[in-house]
Amino acid sequence: MRRKLAAGNWKMNGISASLTELESLATVHANAGVDILICPPATLIHRAAETTKDTGIRIGGQDCHANAAGAHTGDIGAQMLKDAGATAVIVGHSERREDHDERNEDVRAKAKAAIDAGLTALICLGESLAQREAANTLDIIAGQMSGSIPDLATGENMVIAYEPIWAIGTGKVPTLEQIGEVHDFIRTRLERRFGEGVGRSIRLLYGGSVKPANAAEIFAVPNVDGALVGGASLKTADFSPIISALE
Ligand code: PGA
Repeated sequence: MRRKLAAGNWKMNGISASLTELESLATVHANAGVDILICPPATLIHRAAETTKDTGIRIGGQDCHANAAGAHTGDIGAQMLKDAGATAVIVGHSERREDHDERNEDVRAKAKAAIDAGLTALICLGESLAQREAANTLDIIAGQMSGSIPDLATGENMVIAYEPIWAIGTGKVPTLEQIGEVHDFIRTRLERRFGEGVGRSIRLLYGGSVKPANAAEIFAVPNVDGALVGGASLKTADFSPIISALE
């Protein structure tokens, strides 16, 4: 049975004062019946991990370098995230793929580095609007899966988030049928590549304009094991009902 996961991606938002949101989240959802992961900016990881200590809420990074250490000014290695208190890291988010020209092979190397460091790699996949309109969604997802997912994946060290690029931060959400089609497709391919046991144990999150108002219906779609939430994860008042919808 896959344990549900509510993941929050704060993106480039959050300063010290934002830690009060984590305090209130921990008050309401300590040791919840689902996994909760918050990925704040790297500058807050250490303090966020301290703030949520012993609450069951986990902290993650938003990116890591493919190398463990070295001359890469401004970058952060997976081991450093772990040392700061992270247990997971998002890799291959569409904003990273676009803003930093990250290709599938880069994402795969980052995911491998994360797993090697003992972190859970949360790998993002998703099509653009043009790709969906050209009926290429499943081909794009297939290519991203074979290119971005490393061979050593298990249900513990990897989570996949399906995030259609056109749904991120736009308020637009695919139909439940569209979400279900892609999640079923990902599940089938995972089972084929990693075997039924591992393929069925990997959690699949939906991401893109998840809000308190649409969370429950999205979570009812088969093979949706939770959500990766951007904007609505910044405030406990918004994120809390999303977590509750998953419980
Ligand atoms: P959003 O972002 O919830 O603000 O649409 C989701 C994401 O990019 O992970």
